[in-house]
Amino acid sequence: MNAATNLHARFVDTLPSFLIRLFARPYVAGEGLDAGLDVARRLLSGAGIVTTLDLLAEEVRDPARAQENAATYLAMVRGVAADAAFRSARDRPTLSLKPSSFTAAPLDRGGDGAGSREAIEAIAAEARRLGVGLTIDMEDHTWTDWTLDVALDLHRRGFDVGTVLQTRLHRTAEDLKRIPSGMRVRMVIGIYLEPPAIALTEKPAMKERLLDQSAQLLERGAYVEVASHDEALIRRFLREVVVPRGIGGERYEVQMLYGVPRAALLAALANGSVTTRDKVPPPVRLYVPFATAWDQATAYCRRRLRNNPAMATYVALNLLQMLRGKTPGIAQYQAAARHMAGAAPR
Ligand SMILES: Cc1cc2nc3c(=O)[nH]c(=O)nc-3n(C[C@H](O)[C@H](O)[C@H](O)COP(=O)(O)OP(=O)(O)OC[C@H]3O[C@@H](n4cnc5c(N)ncnc54)[C@H](O)[C@@H]3O)c2cc1C
Repeated sequence: MNAATNLHARFVDTLPSFLIRLFARPYVAGEGLDAGLDVARRLLSGAGIVTTLDLLAEEVRDPARAQENAATYLAMVRGVAADAAFRSARDRPTLSLKPSSFTAAPLDRGGDGAGSREAIEAIAAEARRLGVGLTIDMEDHTWTDWTLDVALDLHRRGFDVGTVLQTRLHRTAEDLKRIPSGMRVRMVIGIYLEPPAIALTEKPAMKERLLDQSAQLLERGAYVEVASHDEALIRRFLREVVVPRGIGGERYEVQMLYGVPRAALLAALANGSVTTRDKVPPPVRLYVPFATAWDQATAYCRRRLRNNPAMATYVALNLLQMLRGKTPGIAQYQAAARHMAGAAPR
């Protein structure tokens, strides 16, 4: 970390929790599973957009809390499966989970991750029984081997489990060769600031890699989920990677974070104007986090602000727009849906 980054991290640590909670507002569905399900339902019915639900649960220090988080995920699997709003497998939200939510001994604090694998196995078993897909999110580099090993093992054993690769890490060039055909992989630049010895430090280079590595994964037969808010990057992914290879919507999707203002892009994606050749709208999924305990939710937001100095500016601008009524929650997605030619909201 350089001095400026250090200073920024220290500043974020001193911000009061109420301010962090205010910052989080545009991106968090609300408190409790019902709030998450409600947003997922409204996005689907109002804008035809599918979701992946996430429980905000980080920096767990108490084994009882780790078990509560696992119990909440089991309730999420059952809640999603029982909800009549999600009739088809395509409409049903998937669940995204972070291994560190299920252990009081996380690898990034020098622990052994005790309890996390068992929790993920139990959630995956229930998810398989009820037909719900899981994605194991990728945390910092101390988790990469662990996460890949668990995700690959579950996938090999027939569970609908995907994971995430971070293009900033140099090791990803080798890791992607382990991904089997048919596995779901979310491609991101990565949110965690990593040491320059193991990772790129400049975003443009991470994004070039994202295009190249997504192409390699598609050629290996993987299902690729490109997760980014960078409009130019998404457009390039579609034009330079998807269209020339004749890849259909059953092989890839675009993902964004709920609450990041992208109405115009969503409308352009939905009316097919981005994919110039076949005009087929790319599938879009939004990542919808909800909270059960606000201390865990603020820990999540604080960490993101700490890791990404530019995030504070995005968040402040987004919040300002939201408070001025320019991007009032789900309304931005409904507005996008209204502009979708030939893709009427359901
Ligand atoms: C669905 C999803 C899942 C993810 N899962 C993981 C994961 O498992 N592991 C991991 O390490 N990372 C994950 N990430 C984070 C990802 O790695 C990037 O850090 C993040 O998406 C920012 O990169 P970007 O490609 O959007 O480009 P950037 O250049 O960072 O952002 C492009 C533009 O988007 C806007 N923007 C970006 N973020 C925000 C924001 N929060 N609020 C308002 N505007 C914003 C800004 O205008 C910015 O200029 C995920 C991201 C998404 C969208």
